[in-house]
This record gives sequence, C-alpha cells and structure tokens, in this order.
Amino acid sequence: MKECPQCGAIHNGHRWIPEPDEKVSSRLAGKTVKKSTCPGCRRMEKGQVEGVVTLKGNFLARHREEIKNVIKRVEKNRHGRNVTSQILRSSEENGEIIIETCDEHLAERIGKELHKAFKGDLDMKWQEKDTFVRVLWQRD
Ligand SMILES: [Zn+2]
Repeated sequence: MKECPQCGAIHNGHRWIPEPDEKVSSRLAGKTVKKSTCPGCRRMEKGQVEGVVTLKGNFLARHREEIKNVIKRVEKNRHGRNVTSQILRSSEENGEIIIETCDEHLAERIGKELHKAFKGDLDMKWQEKDTFVRVLWQRD
C-alpha cells in the first residue's frame, strides 16, 4: 500500500485510487503505508502537458460560467477514475480560454462534452503516437 502525501490518493497494489472513500481508507488501518507521490502529482510538478484545449468565439463571453462548470464537472469525473486526469493550468487571452491538461484523454473529453452541451465546432488533432492532442472548440 502506498499513499500520496500530496493528494491523498492510495495505491492498492494494482492501481491508484484518486479519491479514496471510507471503505478504501479503512482497509489501510493497521497496515504499513508507504508515502509515495502519485503519477498525477508528479505530472503536475513536472508541468507535463499532454493536451491543450482552446476555446474561441463570441459565445464564450456570454456563457463563461456555464462553460467553466462543464469543464470542472468533466475534470472531477475523470479524475475520480484516473489520478493523472487533471488540468494543469488554464489561462485567458484575447477572449480565448486555453486549458492545459496532464492527460490527453481529459482534453479530448472536455472538447466532446462542450460540443455535446453547446454544439459549436470541435476539431481534434492527435500527434503521432497518440500521446498529445490539440483540441479546438469554437462557437460564435
Ligand atoms: Zn497525488
């Protein structure tokens, strides 16, 4: 058993459990738990970016909060299953929102969920070996 000192994720010998519930935590009682930084926190520390999502268009300014809520929901949902699925940082520039993710599938999922919720145009470009994706979503 290992526990990440930064985010509290637990490794049960098979996989990292990002947000352990009481059931998981109770199994740790009395066991030797080694402190070990999980891959999610390591990627955050290194600033490892595997996906970039760019949001564009006039729709953005009028629906900023709704859009941000969808993004937050997607991140929470993905991170609950995969410790590396996290947003490293997001920034705004010239009316565009740019989101960098530590996991390419999170970037892909954010694009798809925005498209599902608000229509608009979605474009995804995978780089060779499928370890990096550039997602563009726009709506005017
Ligand atoms: Zn961690």
